[in-house]
Amino acid sequence: MIPGSFDYHRPTSLGEAVALLSGLDVDARLIAGGHSLIPMMKLRLATPSHLIDLAALNELKGISAASGDAIVIGAMTTQHELIASELLAARLPVIRETARLIADPQVRYCGTLGGNVANGDPGNDMPALMMCLGAIYVLQGKSGERRVAARAYYQGAYATAARADEILTAVSIPLPPPGHGYAYEKLKRKVGDYATAAAGVILTLANGAVAACAIGLTNVADTPLFAQAAGDAVIGSKLDKPTLARASAAAEAIASPAADGRGSAEYRRKMAGVMTARALSRAFARANG
Ligand SMILES: Cc1cc2nc3c(=O)[nH]c(=O)nc-3n(C[C@H](O)[C@H](O)[C@H](O)COP(=O)(O)OP(=O)(O)OC[C@H]3O[C@@H](n4cnc5c(N)ncnc54)[C@H](O)[C@@H]3O)c2cc1C
Repeated sequence: MIPGSFDYHRPTSLGEAVALLSGLDVDARLIAGGHSLIPMMKLRLATPSHLIDLAALNELKGISAASGDAIVIGAMTTQHELIASELLAARLPVIRETARLIADPQVRYCGTLGGNVANGDPGNDMPALMMCLGAIYVLQGKSGERRVAARAYYQGAYATAARADEILTAVSIPLPPPGHGYAYEKLKRKVGDYATAAAGVILTLANGAVAACAIGLTNVADTPLFAQAAGDAVIGSKLDKPTLARASAAAEAIASPAADGRGSAEYRRKMAGVMTARALSRAFARANG
């Protein structure tokens, strides 16, 4: 199928893009890499009358650690660029690990971090990771800039805290301490598939026990989930079996997946717990060196 007709706009500055988005009718949509939006347009699940292409906005590209305590990634940075970044490999390797599990290289050459997190698709992998990392989304609208925590951004499937006139310009991620443990575990049917269930973990240790732990879950509810109780369940432990079981159960308790081609709701909920335990174990082993 081919998409319906639309007017195409290619602004060359953020100001121009914001003016277009707030000035055009409500059917205007931003397009970044197009690898979520165009398939939806082909299926007539999205029928925008205007597309505003962000590709020429160089100010939305790049990865920097200018402030020292956070890494800021421009919304138009592609998933391929995340994987190739030496800065991320050294300071935030979980981003690389997660990006490598998204789709396939063809998709990752075009798909952007901004598109992945702004989309509001619970199947996208980056949103749960951003919740886990405590990331902040930087939004620019006609009345100025606003910062929204990833943990407060997702309201339902394809429903987010962004206003209709706002463009996500960057994602700011506080740097976890050196030596932190990390893992993103994703169960999928084949390479290139969305998650049956996935879990991201960031943790730190003190005297060999878990001192802090954050867990995010992908594709087991209408939104990505921040699994607060599962993270709390492992604090002070060395991840013995009963503790892992408690964390898994806490993750399963907040999951409410639908049955789909990836399995029954019961199976996918169980897999949320299994992915949580696997990610915790791998993050713990990494933190122990
Ligand atoms: C075959 C296939 C397999 C895939 N598998 C996976 C997978 O396993 N995991 C995964 O995470 N993703 C997967 N994807 C999706 C892929 O990662 C997309 O590229 C990504 O989700 C969206 O990024 P994009 O840059 O292509 O955004 P677009 O498709 O261009 O946009 C997506 C949505 O976000 C909005 N948007 C884009 N940029 C901004 C912005 N800066 N500010 C505000 N709104 C914005 C658009 O208006 C649109 O509503 C897959 C895609 C395909 C085609």
